[in-house]
Amino acid sequence: MFANSRSVKLLCRGVLTTLCGGILLSASAHEITTNAMYLHNAPKWLKRVRVEKVIDRIQSKLEWSTRRIHGYYYTDEQAFAKAHGLGPKAIAVTKSSKSGIVVHLGPKITNKNFDYQFGHEMVHVIIAQKYKGAIPKWLEEGLANHLSRAPKVDYEALNRHPLPQDVTKLAHPFSGEASLIHFRYKASQALAEMLSKKCDLENLIRLSVERKMENYIETYCEIKDINLAFRKWVESKVKKKVKS
Ligand SMILES: [Zn+2]
Repeated sequence: MFANSRSVKLLCRGVLTTLCGGILLSASAHEITTNAMYLHNAPKWLKRVRVEKVIDRIQSKLEWSTRRIHGYYYTDEQAFAKAHGLGPKAIAVTKSSKSGIVVHLGPKITNKNFDYQFGHEMVHVIIAQKYKGAIPKWLEEGLANHLSRAPKVDYEALNRHPLPQDVTKLAHPFSGEASLIHFRYKASQALAEMLSKKCDLENLIRLSVERKMENYIETYCEIKDINLAFRKWVESKVKKKVKS
């Protein structure tokens, strides 16, 4: 999840207090420092080497060295909600403002899902630092899922929902009903999977630095009508599943 706000302020720099920016530090919490991030209040099960591994993989995919940012892990849902302000459905949020980029990791981030949930946020961080407005909003969540190796799209489930008339209206997928939010994320991820199949996604991203990716989707990927291409893509994936 990604939020852009002008009024967001960095929480507690150099935190080593017992209460910081509404985060209660548990006795087993620790701080992890890497070249890319100060991760405050990290849970006991999380080690520096694992954080670095995820960061390195995403950085190498997006060819970038992150300018060091702060990240906060929350064990308390209320403190987490207060920090991101996006409502109860958020699991992790990357906030970008004039004072910098901050990653907030909520209590639903566990030992089991950490790698792709955290990887997803690192994609947002790098998009904000490197690509600025070049990656279309309707693709950003899907790209973050795709590059962080989130569970793949279930096309049959996706197809049970009416497909959007215009996929470029998929932006801001974090508002509305839970099922709709889920659908928007997965539709955006399906678009990333489609682009990855139809053209060299890593090169498409590379080409798009500080330029509009949408133009390259048309010229480099030769996709003239993204909506038509998407409907056909979903159809073919559903057919393939039925056959197999
Ligand atoms: Zn996201």
